[in-house]
Amino acid sequence: MRMTTCSWLVAAVVLGVVAAGVSSAPAPEKINVLIIDGQNNHNWKATTPVIKEMLVASGRFNVDVLTSPSNKDPKEAWDKFRPDFSKYGVVFSNYNGQPWPDEVQKALEKYMGDGGGLVIYHAANNAFAQWEAWNKMIGLGWRDNKFGDRITVDDSGKVVRTPKGEGPGAGHGPQWPYEVKVFDKSSPIMAGMPEKWTHAADELYQGQRGPAQDMTILATAFAPKTKGGNDANEPMVWTIPFGKGRVFVNLLGHDEKSVAHPGCKALMLRGTEWAAAGKVTIPVPADVGAAGGAK
Ligand code: ZN
Repeated sequence: MRMTTCSWLVAAVVLGVVAAGVSSAPAPEKINVLIIDGQNNHNWKATTPVIKEMLVASGRFNVDVLTSPSNKDPKEAWDKFRPDFSKYGVVFSNYNGQPWPDEVQKALEKYMGDGGGLVIYHAANNAFAQWEAWNKMIGLGWRDNKFGDRITVDDSGKVVRTPKGEGPGAGHGPQWPYEVKVFDKSSPIMAGMPEKWTHAADELYQGQRGPAQDMTILATAFAPKTKGGNDANEPMVWTIPFGKGRVFVNLLGHDEKSVAHPGCKALMLRGTEWAAAGKVTIPVPADVGAAGGAK
């Protein structure tokens, strides 16, 4: 009797395992993300937790946060700042501050050259003007007009390159709820996104400057003179290759509210996945563009 019960139990367990194996596909392996913060002229202590939570809640990512020394820490504090990029599918920069040690810069260049992923979020493109490879990775940075070329999109959809020394340098007007327009629909990051949507009240970066080589512009926003702009369509979201690596740049999201607005959130999740994996599986939520306005 006892043996029989035991046999039934074994059979039930074996059947259960077999059934589970048949009925459920294996979950895709989660992507390891490293968010780097610690210095910024923005409130990184407020934005990093919001970004971490949105990434984790998607179910697609494991997230570590590495906070750098502050600019008040002694120089030696930087000796311990040695991120192991190789453990991560993607590095997410929420950092705008002192230069990273040479060793760390070289390590990021190697990681990206070998096929890593990098996300540049908002003011992260203000950082590291003296780091040549970084400027190539980000394409356009918050720099003055002598630093490099400017990229805009004209009304016919043509990409226009303004040489360095001509036209405005980096700036932004007051925060307002502007429209974000998809420019390149063929990018997997933009597949399924509405053609345009009204973003939260946010800064609209203009006049960004840099080498701007091999950029694929994914979205633009029109910065009118009445809002401190130059009556130009400014690139707001783009991708750029670096070696075998992929960079995703999103200039939206000055604060914890605008970064979590549905369109920006969708871009963050999908762009981060793309930078790591080269493809996108995270769906576009129905609330992107549906509300029709900023909240
Ligand atoms: Zn800002």
